[in-house]
Amino acid sequence: MSHPLEVLRTVFGYDRFRGAQAEIIDHVIGGGDALVLMPTGGGKSLCYQVPALCRPGLGVVVSPLIALMQDQVSALRQLGVKAAALNSSLSYGQQVEIERQMRAGEIDMVYVAPERLMTDAFLIQLERCRLALFAIDEAHCVSQWGHDFRPEYLQLATLHTRFPEVPRIALTATADSPTRREIVEKLSLAGGRQFVAGFDRPNIRYRVAAKTSSARNQLLSFLKREHPGDAGIVYRLSRSKVEETAAWLCDQGIDALPYHAGLDKTVRAENQERFLNEDGVVMVATIAFGMGIDKPDVRFVAHLDLPKSIEAYYQETGRAGRDGLPADAWMVYGMQDVARLRQMVEDGDAPEVKKRLEHRKLDALLGYCETTRCRRQVLLEYFGDVGQPCGNCDTCLEPVESFDGTVAAQKALSCVYRTGQRFGAGHLIDVLTGADSERIRQLGHDKLSTFGIGREFAKEEWRSIFRQLVAAGLLRVDIEGHGSLGLTEACRAVLRGEKDLSLRRDVGRRKAGSRSPRQRDTIGEPADEALFQALRAQRLAIAREIGVPPYVIFHDATLLEMARRKPQDEAQLALLSGVGKAKLERYGEAFIAVIRGFC
Ligand code: ADP
Ligand code: ZN
Repeated sequence: MSHPLEVLRTVFGYDRFRGAQAEIIDHVIGGGDALVLMPTGGGKSLCYQVPALCRPGLGVVVSPLIALMQDQVSALRQLGVKAAALNSSLSYGQQVEIERQMRAGEIDMVYVAPERLMTDAFLIQLERCRLALFAIDEAHCVSQWGHDFRPEYLQLATLHTRFPEVPRIALTATADSPTRREIVEKLSLAGGRQFVAGFDRPNIRYRVAAKTSSARNQLLSFLKREHPGDAGIVYRLSRSKVEETAAWLCDQGIDALPYHAGLDKTVRAENQERFLNEDGVVMVATIAFGMGIDKPDVRFVAHLDLPKSIEAYYQETGRAGRDGLPADAWMVYGMQDVARLRQMVEDGDAPEVKKRLEHRKLDALLGYCETTRCRRQVLLEYFGDVGQPCGNCDTCLEPVESFDGTVAAQKALSCVYRTGQRFGAGHLIDVLTGADSERIRQLGHDKLSTFGIGREFAKEEWRSIFRQLVAAGLLRVDIEGHGSLGLTEACRAVLRGEKDLSLRRDVGRRKAGSRSPRQRDTIGEPADEALFQALRAQRLAIAREIGVPPYVIFHDATLLEMARRKPQDEAQLALLSGVGKAKLERYGEAFIAVIRGFC
């Protein structure tokens, strides 16, 4: 049996295991069952790939999506691992051949969908193979409560009875404790060990800012200033917004593509292909896009509309920076977003209890948006982790000033009350700042006691105050979607002066996109940017030639290492992280030639 560290170094080209990987791998090689919870990008795949290579026999990997399988299989093949995927895209003859290779012990790993795995015919095939392990990827699919429930996953429990000697390792990035219990129960994993890694994604920088009158210009300056030529995802709430934003970005010279469930299937597949196979495509998408996207070099995830909950936000932003290099989670939001989401919840046909839960989840997200604390701390606490202020989010980098907002809040709340709880922030701010307008006079609002009592703040500042009052649950946005604001029970204490309120001073700071571009690599010597680009071009040329995504050849992190250390021969190249034996043989020469050309 090969030694895991040996496999890690020669096959994958990495120096050491990360976090709990070594422990998990030892446990599975020893024949134990395991449930592994790790954030996206944490390195789950190695936890079953290394044991599958160390233990004699075939590793069977259950995966819910064909796209995901093919990605993994082509990456493994580039590493010189004998891997195959069995799915409906193969011809009968190809399937028979793979099954023969499985029996003959000619392949190390096979990826298969749960539907196929659990057919009698396939299980009988497996009984004739020597098996190293079963890996159950995206294990949260067994959970009925989760959003990705796959009924076929439930049958996977019988693997345990049918192959009691074969260790099983279930893996997921998204499992709160009820889901975790469900996975253990449904997969009969109670006898195994649980490995729970922290949920932190330290390389992602979280930023949230207020929408200005032109959110798309905010986005454009963020892209131009900080991510020229980078791949990223822009999330929008509706299909029409996706199309509109993608078209507009194209007009501005950005290589943007739309993706949503309403697009023709072939167009969708083509756009996804381009996103995966080319460097620097920006995908503008609804939440229909993302599940099963394992592209490691997504440099930013931008939200131009609010997601529905912190869970959704964390999952979506988690698609950035899987390769561990710096990445941005960037969001702008405004009160209109809140109104729209509230209305969507109300219009949905979920039972009342569920709707209440969804409103509460949105509240938690608003609390996150308006926090004066470290954003990462707020996120991690939400998932039950604790952490220190991170130094890599907007509130850590530019601490937010806060002020005693009790009087301002009282003025705003009274104004809502005196105008009959029928108006949106725009009109309320006009009343507070004493605007001289036809509408105000018509409504007689210039006669109100709250008219003109808020001149100490500019309109923009009032906007921020109203947003914070909504986030704090003192005001609610009406659910008919007109954006009018009403009082809540909770605002009484503030109105009566029984409770002080601290508010963030927003205006003049938080200009999302005002930061200078970040270096790609923050540690060590700066890489030679021109060489890095030349290496990328070489990678793209090879990828095109053999028809795989560029990151399957080498990750950006490895190219950056090359650009920094400038290895002159294969021996030096072999020392870099991400350069295993197979890749050295296949591509070593081509990349060294580029480096030599620069020296
Ligand atoms: P997950 O499935 O948990 O989202 P992956 O298994 O795709 O994460 O791994 C994320 C990235 O980290 C991959 O690019 C992988 O090659 C890299 N990686 C994983 N383990 C290590 C390690 N021990 N050393 C260096 N890179 C690693
Ligand atoms: Zn922070």
